[in-house]
Amino acid sequence: MADHHRKPHVIIIPYPLQGHVNPSVHLAIKLASRGFAVTFINTQYVHHHTLKALDRKPDGDGSHDIFSNVRRSGLDIRYTTVSDGLPVGFDRSLNHEQFMASLLHVFSAHVEEVVGSIVARPGEGADCLIADTFYVWPSKVAEKFGLLYVSFWTEPALVFSLYYHVDLLRINGHFGCHDCREDPIDYIPGVQPLQPKDMTSYLQESETSSVCHQIIFNAFQDVKAADFVLCNTVRELEPSTVLALQEQKPFYSVGPVFPEGFTRSDVATSLWPESDCSQWLDTKPRGSVLYVSFGSYTHLSRPDLEEIAHGLSLSKVDFVWVLRADIVSSNDVDPLPDGFKQELGDRAMIIPWCRQKAVLSHPAIGGFLTHCGWNSILESIWSGVPMLCFPLLTDQFTNRKLVVDDWRIGLNLSDRNKTTREEVANKIARLMSKESRSEFKNAVEAVKKKLEEALMPDGSSTRDFDQFLMDIKDRIHQKKHLCNGA
Ligand code: UDP
Repeated sequence: MADHHRKPHVIIIPYPLQGHVNPSVHLAIKLASRGFAVTFINTQYVHHHTLKALDRKPDGDGSHDIFSNVRRSGLDIRYTTVSDGLPVGFDRSLNHEQFMASLLHVFSAHVEEVVGSIVARPGEGADCLIADTFYVWPSKVAEKFGLLYVSFWTEPALVFSLYYHVDLLRINGHFGCHDCREDPIDYIPGVQPLQPKDMTSYLQESETSSVCHQIIFNAFQDVKAADFVLCNTVRELEPSTVLALQEQKPFYSVGPVFPEGFTRSDVATSLWPESDCSQWLDTKPRGSVLYVSFGSYTHLSRPDLEEIAHGLSLSKVDFVWVLRADIVSSNDVDPLPDGFKQELGDRAMIIPWCRQKAVLSHPAIGGFLTHCGWNSILESIWSGVPMLCFPLLTDQFTNRKLVVDDWRIGLNLSDRNKTTREEVANKIARLMSKESRSEFKNAVEAVKKKLEEALMPDGSSTRDFDQFLMDIKDRIHQKKHLCNGA
C-alpha cells in the first residue's frame, strides 16, 4: 500500500539524445530541490556512454550513477536504466532510422516493465511520469500505473505549436501534399505569419510516412492527453505563442533549464569525453574566436563540411571547431580536406567534443557558428554570444527564424541549400567584424536580460515553475483523496 504522507515522487524519462538528456537532468535537480523525490531513468546506451566519457566503469552491479554527487548534497534523486530495445554497442548514429523505429515500437515495453517495478515497490509508489513530448506512449503508460503525465518539451513553444496544429497545416495545404502552398502560414493560433521554409524539416517534406513522421504524429496525439506541459522556453521570448498554447493545455514556460552555476554541473551528462580548450582560449584576445559546433547528432554532407572548412580558413578568424567523429558518418571519420589542420597551425582548435557552456562563456569567444539546436541557442544567448546559423534538420530551421528574424541576434549562413566557402568566409567576417559585432552583441545582451529576468524570484519562468508545483501537488492530493475514498 502506498504511503500517503510521503513526498511527491516523479519518474523522469528523457529522450535518449544529448539535447534532451541535458535539460531533463537539470529539471530533475530543480524538482528535487523543491522537495520532490525523483527517479531518473536513462537508457542503458546513454548511461554507458556517459560513464565511458568520464572514463569510469560501472560499479560491479552496474549501478554507478550520475546523480551521486547531488544525492550527497541531500537531494532525493534515484537513478535507474532501461533498454531502448537495441544492444548498447549498436551504432545509432549510422542507423538512425532503426534507432528511431526501436523508440517508436519497442521502447515502451521496456519502460512499462521498469515503471511497473518502481510503482510496485512496497511503501514507495509514484505519483507522476515526466516524459519527453516526442515519446508516443507516456499517456498510456501513465494511465496504466495511475500516474499523472507531465510532458516535457525541450524545444521552443513555436515548434510545439506547429506540430500541435499539424491538422491545420494539412487542411490549409501547407503540409502533407505534393504541391504544397508556398505563401505564409497565418492561421496557427498565436503564431505570427511564418514562411513554409521556416517550418521544421519534417513539416517541409512531401513524403510523410517516415519513422520520424510517425513519431511526431503519434507523439502529438498522445500529448493531447497530458495533464501538464513544461516547455524549456521563456514566456517573454515567444509571448503570443505561449499564450495561445495556454488556452489549449496547462502549459508552463520554465526555461532556460540550466545547471545552477551554468558552466559547472555536479552531474555529468556528456556522451563523449570533453576536450579542454580553455588554456588555448586564454591566449586569444577578447571576442576574437568563433566557436563552431553542429550539435550532438545531425550530420553534415561532405561537400558542406569541405566548404565550411575552406570558409573558416579563408576568414582568417581563429576558431574552436567541435568535429564529432561521426559528423559526416561513422563510416567516414576523417572528412577534413588534406593538410587542413597543419595549414591552420595555432589559428584553430579542432576537437571531438567539449564542455560547451564553458567554451561559450569564455571571454575570447565572439561568435557561434551553430546548427541552431535549441539548447545551443539558449546557451549562446546566456553567454551573450551572437550566432551564425546553419540549420540542418528538424526544429533547427524554425529556431533560426527566431534567432535571425525575430530577435535579430544572428545571421543566416546561407539562404540556399548549398553553401560556398566564399559565403562562409564573408558571413564569418560580418559576424565577427567590430561594427556588426557590437550591433549583434547589444541585441543578444537585451535577449539575455529577458532570460535572466525570467529566472529571478519574481520572473516569469520562476512563477510558472512555482505554479506548476502547486498545480501538480493539488492533482496528486486529489488523486490520493479519491483513492482513499474508494
Ligand atoms: N554540447 C556539449 N559539447 C559539445 C557540443 C554540444 O556539451 O561539444 C551540448 C550543448 O551544450 C547542448 C547539447 O550538447 O546542451 C546539444 O543540444 P542542442 O539542442 O544544441 O543540439 P542537438 O545536439 O540536440 O542537435
